[in-house]
Amino acid sequence: MDDIVKEIIMLKQEKDAVILAHNYQIPAIQDIADFVGDSLELAKKAREVDSSIVAFCGVRFMAETAKILNPDRKVLLPAFNAGCPLADMAKIDDVLEMKKRYPDAYVVSYINTSAEVKSVTDVCCTSSNAATVIRNVPAETVIFLPDKNLGYFVQKAKPEKKLILWDGYCYVHRMFTLEDLKKAREKYPAAEILVHPECNPEVQDNADFVLSTSGMLKRAHASEAKTFIIGTEEGLIHRLKKENPDKEFFSLGASRVCFNMKKTTLELLRDCLKNETNEITLPQDIMEKARNSVEAMIRYI
Ligand code: SF4
Repeated sequence: MDDIVKEIIMLKQEKDAVILAHNYQIPAIQDIADFVGDSLELAKKAREVDSSIVAFCGVRFMAETAKILNPDRKVLLPAFNAGCPLADMAKIDDVLEMKKRYPDAYVVSYINTSAEVKSVTDVCCTSSNAATVIRNVPAETVIFLPDKNLGYFVQKAKPEKKLILWDGYCYVHRMFTLEDLKKAREKYPAAEILVHPECNPEVQDNADFVLSTSGMLKRAHASEAKTFIIGTEEGLIHRLKKENPDKEFFSLGASRVCFNMKKTTLELLRDCLKNETNEITLPQDIMEKARNSVEAMIRYI
């Protein structure tokens, strides 16, 4: 075992810390984490944690969500400058403006939003439960933000609701193309193609399954296929391979990397645990209002 890994394990015990990591983190971080998951799984885990410290290996909105759900814990974000460009595409003032234009609409925000935006949101959702949340909200019109491709996916599943889509996107998932998909089909005709709902509509429409990262993991376990083409951030492939050693996984086209997700290193994790730095703090009122929208999601699913 590497010295740095030993050091992190010791620090974790000494500080009574738990390490949560997103599926897109580098393999070394996934391997040392106590729990690896997607946004919803991590949000639920963050709620249950009773350790004094949560070291959140992911991007800022995820660590903010952990703090919102478990305000008495010290939540640390090892890569303090790891943001999410998609989350940054929705600003609180623009959301308030939109609410004025559609006063009867419900605001449903993807969990990839800042704590401020969550504080003016009626219900949050993740890619795995967006359709269920929208089906269950008591409104005919929904302002859905910030990912328009996830909005497209939900609109297809729930045509009876009117969705007003935000003009945001994830630059990582937008890089997968229909051309990539056609080439993959030619090269691996027996493979299943699984893509994330943040991919462009034409990629979603031509894939075998459109799934969240947790949905992809479940599908890979359950399917009889031996080869899978994966249209999401390349970090998930580490976990897919680890949990399914008898199956093959390839990225759809070139591997696509979220640079913010890759900012967390073992060194940053060790330093932030050692010095208890990079703590997430949020104003009390924002935290309380944001918590209502996240708790509402958990009620609606
Ligand atoms: S993969 Fe996309 S949505 Fe996820 S953190 Fe990176 S930029 Fe944001």
